[in-house]
Amino acid sequence: MLSLLLIGFLGCAPASKPEPVPVQTAPKIIQIEAETGQLSGVEIAKSLPGFSGTGYVTGFDAATDQLTLTFDATAGLYALSIGYSAPSGDKGVDFQVNGEKVSSTLTQNTGFGLAKTGKFQVRDGRNTVTIFRGWGYFSIDYLQLTPTTVGLPTKPSKTLVNPQATASTKALFSYLVDQYGSKVISGQQDDVEYILEKTGKEPAIGSFDLMDYSPSRVQNGATPQRSSEACMAWARKGEGRGIISLLWHWNAPTDLIDQAPDRLWWSGFYTRATTFDLAATLADPKGERYHLLIRDIDTIAGELKKFQTADIPVLWRPLHEASGGWFWWGAKGAGPFKELWRLLYDRLTNHHQLHNLIWVYTATDSIHPDWYPGDSYVDVVGLDIYTDPTSSLSGNWTNAQGPFAGKKLVALSETGNLPKPDQIRNFGTWWSWFSVWTGADFIKKQSVEQLKAVYTDKDVITRDELPNWRQIP
Ligand code: CA
Repeated sequence: MLSLLLIGFLGCAPASKPEPVPVQTAPKIIQIEAETGQLSGVEIAKSLPGFSGTGYVTGFDAATDQLTLTFDATAGLYALSIGYSAPSGDKGVDFQVNGEKVSSTLTQNTGFGLAKTGKFQVRDGRNTVTIFRGWGYFSIDYLQLTPTTVGLPTKPSKTLVNPQATASTKALFSYLVDQYGSKVISGQQDDVEYILEKTGKEPAIGSFDLMDYSPSRVQNGATPQRSSEACMAWARKGEGRGIISLLWHWNAPTDLIDQAPDRLWWSGFYTRATTFDLAATLADPKGERYHLLIRDIDTIAGELKKFQTADIPVLWRPLHEASGGWFWWGAKGAGPFKELWRLLYDRLTNHHQLHNLIWVYTATDSIHPDWYPGDSYVDVVGLDIYTDPTSSLSGNWTNAQGPFAGKKLVALSETGNLPKPDQIRNFGTWWSWFSVWTGADFIKKQSVEQLKAVYTDKDVITRDELPNWRQIP
């Protein structure tokens, strides 16, 4: 039967000869030595041993310094690695591959190291890579481009860290895991109405901030821009399928500097605007400041409880971007931060019996393993990325997949720009969800055409496309 089918199939083949296929060379590994490039304000050095080729390029100190490298290639997707030295600490490097501008991190290395910077679409013939100063204080030895393919992320298990999670919370997480690797769920910080006005569609995830429930803001007369009740109303309207994400710009419990221009009380979540010392506070559990820390957590628990009572799970994203150090919860290093995370987890889960939370640990644009609170305290890892709109974010994605593939969902928890669905497909950056930051500099800076394109894309889930996820077993 098989052979009969085969004959039948061959019988249908066109009689004419196929067109001759042009001879194509398969993509191969390309290595370009930095010292062969076009140097502008930088110079070739040979003093540090261990370099490749005949030297390396150093002296990225002026803002206009740059190194331009050209190479010929066969079109395809390539992983780009940079051979470098960065002896004095982690350094940011900015570079451009053809039209795409990217920022990446060169981790400290006293000799020479190799940094993976993500995947790039390389074209047939001549290609150009330009390396800019970034933070400076690094040397570039060579670039290496390795042909690669688009991979799908390995799904994590559907088990939440809190075994007592409510049925709806488990069901939502199950839905998120089911979508991971084939769809991206749309989200928006605050400006959900703007999305509806411009596209006729709504984000599946409304992301809001508990900032103004911080007691030290309430004491100064703050009132929430959007109350918990208003957030819940957004989630419940229509068929009640809206998904809620909450973050908390936690104004320091006390010790606000409250001075103009940039240290006023309402900036009290920034390290610069408070003298509140997390390490000293945690070291003195009988002290007044520790008491205030717990008071604040208990206040926020009261808000989260409202969501639980209404059977609304929350993608809970507290203590975000700690490794950046710009918020007081990250100002004293990884140790106190992780202690606070676990204290918060324990207080909310065990003391307050909050079982509607999906715990989202938010890194910055890169992963620093020292700052990770641990697999038993985190359900999802989020990245907050503010970079050039041409960037595919492939490097950030690759960086997160290293430690978390198959273990945790990875989300684009904040972004300054709309992600491009074509890039997601081409580079395999299947964020669980994305959430664009609010306001004139971010979501309202995106073109309406692009906004519409994203919100009507077949692989982007909008609110109207959400199933009745509470029913998912
Ligand atoms: Ca070299």
